[in-house]
Amino acid sequence: MSQTVETVRGPLALEALGPTLMHEHIFVLDPEAMENYGRRWGAPIWDEEVRVADAIAKLRRLRDGGIHTIVDPTVYGLGRNIQRIQRINAEVPDLNVIVATGVYAFLELRGFLGYRSDDQLVELFVREIREGIDDTGVKAAFLKCAIEAHGVIGDIPRILSLIASTAVETGVPVMVHTSAPAQTGRVALETLTAAGVDPSRIVIAHAGDSNDLDYLRTLADTGAWLGCDRFNIEHFNPDPDRIDTLVALLGEGYADSIHLGHDAACFMDFMAHNPPFAHEHPDYLHISRNVLPVLRERGVTQEQIDAMLVANPQRFFARL
Ligand SMILES: [Zn+2]
Repeated sequence: MSQTVETVRGPLALEALGPTLMHEHIFVLDPEAMENYGRRWGAPIWDEEVRVADAIAKLRRLRDGGIHTIVDPTVYGLGRNIQRIQRINAEVPDLNVIVATGVYAFLELRGFLGYRSDDQLVELFVREIREGIDDTGVKAAFLKCAIEAHGVIGDIPRILSLIASTAVETGVPVMVHTSAPAQTGRVALETLTAAGVDPSRIVIAHAGDSNDLDYLRTLADTGAWLGCDRFNIEHFNPDPDRIDTLVALLGEGYADSIHLGHDAACFMDFMAHNPPFAHEHPDYLHISRNVLPVLRERGVTQEQIDAMLVANPQRFFARL
């Protein structure tokens, strides 16, 4: 019997994932901010019905553009709302959305989760993987955590330990947000593998913000995955440099170690009415429309593209 992966609409055979973007959000927001500031600035930033309709339109365009699956690492700390995602996915029924459990925090595990015991938190994460998230029936297919430039300080060691315990117990893979300038992918791998997680079950998200081939090789040579997942976000690393680095990695035989994505969203609250982000235009089809043609010109083969977009997502979610 073929293996399955959990999606918002239930289990799906791995072979049915199709072309998959491995790091995309639908919404990134702070619910408390939207409750307090969402209706200012003349036109409201947050109107549930407007945002849901906008997301349905953007995700239909994505599906019509040939992407069958998105992997959405929006967890606690990024505004996860599975009921809203279910409602949107019902209107884009041929798109698979894979969701996560875990914590997105750079320093502190706050409030609702922060005051609970380690056992309670591991139990919560395991339940979200095995039984479902809250009362939605939707199961998380992977874990998410973060090590930003601050490093492994504050509550981060505790969070990593909780994530590793859950990964070992359930066998699901782990995505760790990292800082490429601070090269925290190294300590992410050291910490998670020391706690028992197999490197082949770990993706170093945002590794593609780095053009340091030694750093990237060191990560990939452990068996971990490289998240080349922020195409079209120029301020972290301009696309021409991302492409040069990706072509170099492919030339060295790393096609089977790479995840592709944009880290895009239909809406990110911090960008709204915020001039420094005025020039950013998240686009789920940027890789398909603008990056793949350049890769082909540079000699990247269809086999390598299929590895990154189709085979690697299947391998990442396959149970060992
Ligand atoms: Zn992200």
